[in-house]
Amino acid sequence: MAAKYGMHLDFLKEEDTEIYNAIQSEKQRQMEGIELIPSENLVSQAVLEAMGSVPTNKYSEGYPGKRYYGGNEFIDVIENLAIERCKKLFKAEHANVQPLSGSPANMAVYFAVMEPNDTFMGMKLTEGGHLTHGHPVNFSGKLYNCVQYGVDRKTEKLDYDEIEKQAKETKPKLLLSGYTAYPREIDFKRFREIADKVGAFCMADIAHIAGLCAAGVHENPVPYFDAVTTTTHKTLRGPRGAVIMCKKDFAEKIDKSVFPGMQGGPHDHITAAKAVCFKEALQPSFKDYAKQIVKNSKALAKELMDKGLRIVSNGTDNHLMLVDVFKSRGLSGKEAELALEKAGIYCNKNTIPFDKRTPWDPSGIRIGTPVLTTRGMKEADMKEVASFIAKALDSSKSSSGLEAIKNEVKAFCINFPFYR
Ligand SMILES: *Cc1c(COP(=O)(O)O)cnc(C)c1O
Repeated sequence: MAAKYGMHLDFLKEEDTEIYNAIQSEKQRQMEGIELIPSENLVSQAVLEAMGSVPTNKYSEGYPGKRYYGGNEFIDVIENLAIERCKKLFKAEHANVQPLSGSPANMAVYFAVMEPNDTFMGMKLTEGGHLTHGHPVNFSGKLYNCVQYGVDRKTEKLDYDEIEKQAKETKPKLLLSGYTAYPREIDFKRFREIADKVGAFCMADIAHIAGLCAAGVHENPVPYFDAVTTTTHKTLRGPRGAVIMCKKDFAEKIDKSVFPGMQGGPHDHITAAKAVCFKEALQPSFKDYAKQIVKNSKALAKELMDKGLRIVSNGTDNHLMLVDVFKSRGLSGKEAELALEKAGIYCNKNTIPFDKRTPWDPSGIRIGTPVLTTRGMKEADMKEVASFIAKALDSSKSSSGLEAIKNEVKAFCINFPFYR
């Protein structure tokens, strides 16, 4: 099987061998390992090319047609295409494609609708939220009065009645639905109802599941939420960056919040790559891709459970799952992450709901299927992947055992080439 894409780094190779070599080694690592980090993906050659192109040279503070610099005729073409495609993909009334990444996108929405010390409600980091959803070490926890919700102890799923009760008690100005480690489908309609009952601004952060929402594999909250943020580099399979979509009523406030509120010049080469990513996601083949991500994820969860590994909430509806390695194998998340890494399998340690261990060395690992699916793997391949994972966990004390697995993993991955 031939690789899908090549990388052209001839000038770099000549000018800076140290960086060239490190990039080549990183590419080799990506190609020879099993990448299970659910927030990662592999972008197409077209996205890569747009990212490495000359709009990076331009300053274009402002928005299309209203710039603070001259010479933006073609940057306007790029940004307008990105905006129109984004709106079409998510059925959005308004899109701002300038946020540099997911965290600044969330910050821009908060700044647009809240004052310091206002109350907002988001999910606890330790049960699947993001740092920017109110964690004390993050600006969101420092600047605002954060009320945090979690999952139900028994089902390990969101308990909407409980969230409603908490919202009625605390009257948040903004209610946020968004997760980095929640494996289940979200009832966005219910969130909207709760927000309406307490008069809260209704926001979703779909960074992880955006590709699934765009493809209609997971419900898309954009048409009826006040604002939705997403990164473009996770399941959406675009460049590192983010967008904010919102109702027309909030468009001006949110645009002003992004620029001049908190950002300077947009990264126009990344805007170009976002536009390419949206075009790719509008193709019928992207729907198949998103469906396959979930099929693979369910298959992987089943295989792992068959091997006696406990999966939080007993399975998954989306691209990711949490494995309770402490309960199942007596390994901490950190030990499991390290053992897997030595075997060429990449994941991240993660807290599980009601974890008795610390976030630095929690009970779980978080794994997912976006990258493997991009490489063309199907359900049957998940059986192999699950065996590698189980074998590596069981060989965690044996360096030579893990080394041997790494070679097997490499031989397996070569069957799914992507970048040359
Ligand atoms: C990844 C993620 C972010 C942050 O994105 P960065 O680009 O890393 O700043 C925000 N929210 C959620 C839910 C995420 O998963």
